[in-house]
Amino acid sequence: MVNTERLIQEFMELVQVDSESGAERQLADLLKERLAALGLEVFEDNASGFVEVGRGTGNVIATLPGNGGEGPPLLLSAHMDTVKPGQGVRPRRENGMITSSGDTILGSDDKAGIVAILECLRVIKEENITHGGVQVVFTVAEEIGLVGAKNLDYSRIKARVGFVLDSGGPPGEIIIKAPTQYSLTATIKGKAAHAGIAPEQGINAIVVASHAIANMKVGRIDEETTSNIGLISGGVATNIVPEQTTVKGEARSINPTKAKDQIDHMVDEINKAAEKFGATAAIDVVKEYDPINLAPESLPVRIAMQAAANIGVKPFLGQTGGGSDANIFNGQGIACANLGIGMSKVHTTEEFITEENLVANAQFMVEIIKAAQGIKE
Ligand SMILES: [Zn+2]
Repeated sequence: MVNTERLIQEFMELVQVDSESGAERQLADLLKERLAALGLEVFEDNASGFVEVGRGTGNVIATLPGNGGEGPPLLLSAHMDTVKPGQGVRPRRENGMITSSGDTILGSDDKAGIVAILECLRVIKEENITHGGVQVVFTVAEEIGLVGAKNLDYSRIKARVGFVLDSGGPPGEIIIKAPTQYSLTATIKGKAAHAGIAPEQGINAIVVASHAIANMKVGRIDEETTSNIGLISGGVATNIVPEQTTVKGEARSINPTKAKDQIDHMVDEINKAAEKFGATAAIDVVKEYDPINLAPESLPVRIAMQAAANIGVKPFLGQTGGGSDANIFNGQGIACANLGIGMSKVHTTEEFITEENLVANAQFMVEIIKAAQGIKE
């Protein structure tokens, strides 16, 4: 049985441990201690590139060996970092609801996920639940570009099925589709000239960029695909023909081919415009993450559906337009669904979560461990 008061107290405690992205040290140390006390083998990787020299924080990877269960080893993951303003959180607990005191975020994103996993591990131990192994991954720097998940030491991860607890939907939501994303940075170089005396000697980099963007498909491309130009900068003064401008954009799609086609189209239009005006364009395209595209009959989905049914939660399959650590894990061959944990108004100072959802999340995790024992691949 989930211990409601213990769980809520741990949540109240963890949200008061500052852990803005890049400053997760204190929280990581506390979690490593707790995981070790629960009998897990704990390791911190070198995701930030600095852990080995005593600075920065790595991902926390903890392994609980199977105890005779027939189910597959399961990866359970949440991120340790929060957005800003996340320092000095003073949580308020009133009428079954937990909020910040209004001047910071709360940090239920993603500490609600962390406490659900910790409580699940306690229940496994207390009730001696049979399982096929659990690997816990608490990542760093999720909020600043999934940095921890991208640099995770995957040689340590044996689980091929998993769950990330980091979606805003209610408990029971199982995210099975999320887009892949490409980002683009184009530096267009024209030629500077005096705008009043000799404009014909210049090549206006802003005009080149404008021409390219005007010819681009931007926004909603189709049901599965979106694109955006999100940033443009350049120029020095109104009396100078601008020599350089930088354009940043992105393309996303559930369908990897469509995402690639869309970013290629954007690159094409920039190159065509540069050529037309005699400018040059240096274009950098980065694939930010792979998609989540799980079949309804895939193992994580069947496990989660069964678990939800076992505790009377109505499961539903969802899709999102955003990226999460689950995208990265899927790209690494770990079939991983992102689960709704009922956090609300995240990334704002009005963020809140109900006690009911905190409890439901922990119960759901326990049921996932149990359900995984009865489901065959
Ligand atoms: Zn999150």
